[in-house]
Amino acid sequence: MDTPTSTDAPALVNTSRTVERLVQGQATSDGAGVKLVRVLTQDLQRRLDPFLMLDAFGTQNPGDYIGGFPDHPHRGFETITYMLEGRMRHRDSAGNEGLLVPGSVQWMTAGRGVIHSEMPEQQEGAMEGFQLWLNLPGKTKMQPPWYRDIASSEIPEWHAEGVTVRVIAGATHGVAGAVQRADTEPLYLDVHLAPGARFEQPLPATHNAFAYVYRGGLAVAGTAVRRGRMAIFANPRPDFSVGATAGAGPDGVVLEAGDEGAKAILIAGRPLREPIAQHGPFVMNTQQELYQAVEDFRAGRLA
Ligand code: FE
Repeated sequence: MDTPTSTDAPALVNTSRTVERLVQGQATSDGAGVKLVRVLTQDLQRRLDPFLMLDAFGTQNPGDYIGGFPDHPHRGFETITYMLEGRMRHRDSAGNEGLLVPGSVQWMTAGRGVIHSEMPEQQEGAMEGFQLWLNLPGKTKMQPPWYRDIASSEIPEWHAEGVTVRVIAGATHGVAGAVQRADTEPLYLDVHLAPGARFEQPLPATHNAFAYVYRGGLAVAGTAVRRGRMAIFANPRPDFSVGATAGAGPDGVVLEAGDEGAKAILIAGRPLREPIAQHGPFVMNTQQELYQAVEDFRAGRLA
């Protein structure tokens, strides 16, 4: 495959953010015994604010996923499920139903509460994808639930030589993604790179950002990021945007694929900087709000 060059276009990002930390994730199970890797764990919620959780699941073995995720509640945040392989049926207490198929996204805003199930609609074959949890600011945690199924064909793409980027949320190179959010300004890209290809993404300096590599391998500012690793990107110094360094480009990240090429999700967002109180599937600002969530769930007020 040809190696793309960027000599005919000015660099968007002069200096990439560096890799502050590589995270392998923790093998665990959730729902009715679905095996997955929790990549963004609770101890990283402050560092990666406004993101609360990232699970990666990928298996050929039906025993690892067939139990699915039977009815369970959520309150106070959004769940974004991105399927790479397999079929999952969603049903919720707000009356929504949808089928997740390869390449599609389900964006659910739990808001004040929803009870839903996510069940495999297949007996065999591969199941692979991601579920990301995106926090809501306190002022909208109790908004009515919202839900959208986004077909694979509805996800905008940006292409360059050796580069395909699926734009789930936010924007890249002038292509607006399928979903926008004002408070957290999430960027969610699925970046596919041919061997040796390079992708630049400007980022607002205050936004927290990370990438998870699910095929091949990348280098970011000289640090190798292998398959199955999440790279947390260092935020620039607070004075970065002042332009103290002559000729400095905007803040951002540069992903460079190795010899096998790479596929990675690149995620960034504006931190909410609010207290995070979590009890399982409820994420609020205070303990009192958590007690209320549990009480509302027990009393049937989430359905
Ligand atoms: Fe759920």
